[in-house]
Amino acid sequence: MKFVAKRLDVVEPSPTLAITAKANALKASGIDVVGFGAGEPDFDTPEHIKVAAKRAMDQGKTKYTPVSGIPTLKDAIIAKFKKENNLDYEKNQIIVGTGGKQVIYNFFMATINPGDEVIIPAPYWVSYADIVRLAEGTPVIVPTTLENNFQITPTQLKKAISPKTKVFLFNSPSNPTGSAYSKNDVYDLCEILVKERIITLSDDIYEKIIYDGLEFINPAMVSPEMKEKTFIINGVSKAYSMTGWRIGYGAGNAEIVKNMDTMQGQSTSNASSISQAAAEEALKGDQSEVEVMRKAFDVRRKLIVDLLNQIPGVNCRMPQGAFYAFPYIDKLYNLPKFDKIFSEANEKSRSKVFCDILLEKYNVAAVPGVAFGDDNALRLSYALGEADIRKGLERIQTMVKDLS
Ligand code: GLU
Repeated sequence: MKFVAKRLDVVEPSPTLAITAKANALKASGIDVVGFGAGEPDFDTPEHIKVAAKRAMDQGKTKYTPVSGIPTLKDAIIAKFKKENNLDYEKNQIIVGTGGKQVIYNFFMATINPGDEVIIPAPYWVSYADIVRLAEGTPVIVPTTLENNFQITPTQLKKAISPKTKVFLFNSPSNPTGSAYSKNDVYDLCEILVKERIITLSDDIYEKIIYDGLEFINPAMVSPEMKEKTFIINGVSKAYSMTGWRIGYGAGNAEIVKNMDTMQGQSTSNASSISQAAAEEALKGDQSEVEVMRKAFDVRRKLIVDLLNQIPGVNCRMPQGAFYAFPYIDKLYNLPKFDKIFSEANEKSRSKVFCDILLEKYNVAAVPGVAFGDDNALRLSYALGEADIRKGLERIQTMVKDLS
């Protein structure tokens, strides 16, 4: 008898979580692993946020909350959108979920009918396409190039749109490439989107981790018409180093929010009441640590990109946001020793074989580009200390030397 439901045939376990788990297991067994795998800040959650969570517990805020979030947290989210993005929302346009991932999941479950198409520029975050498939939609993957800073062009977008297109997925700054769209780039895409019956899902989770004075912009900020057609996802995980608290939020069309509320009410109900109190403090309280972390990421960004580009055969663009480097390693695939290992490995993906050797022999965890729809690259999360970055890069360099 087969116990597994057919719907699981179309999805893979999350590779980012799997690699992080594997690296942590090696660490627990006493191996000194350098972890570039997990996409999470290494900083502790700021103290004032933890204090707010403790206070919430002491005040007995330990019961169910409204499914879509506590009203005061929604007020804080609305105030954040007004202050930082100049966008106005009402409470019935806001939903709080257990991490940005659940909000994305519920968004697709609430909007997609079988066969609806979702345009996803590649490289993309690992879970987008699988969530779309779980919702019985069809991901339409549009490959972008390193030369074009991993950005979808208006021509590519136009070409990808069909009568079945329901959603365009926009993620800037991007996980995994760190590419961030400029104001002009976003305006150009919106010129097309505004004329179509398509919802743009804007994943803004890396909004606050952006460099070189580049101003964050999402499609909803372009015009009132685009705001009507855009659904925003954001959360406190990355900006406030709160990945484990699991608080994400969504903002947009009230009918979509109502249906997401129904989905959530029939699955997990509200996100943790304590985490919601912490998220409220994160959004309303002192913001200075966000900048401290951003500056630290900026220093690490320059260090890792510089060290990567010193390795012969590696080509890494300077990312403009998030905390990921996405070096191209396709030239290394031509090394005869690598080619031999690959042909004996009975594997389809070169980046996976590369990452397997890197972890097993050189004790460095990185996510293969194939997980993000680009087998020519690796993703290295540089949310770790400078000494570890140097140590990890030395090991990668040794691996490349050994293969040469
Ligand atoms: N978003 C992070 C990453 O890409 C966390 C892991 C996950 O949920 O995929 O590594």
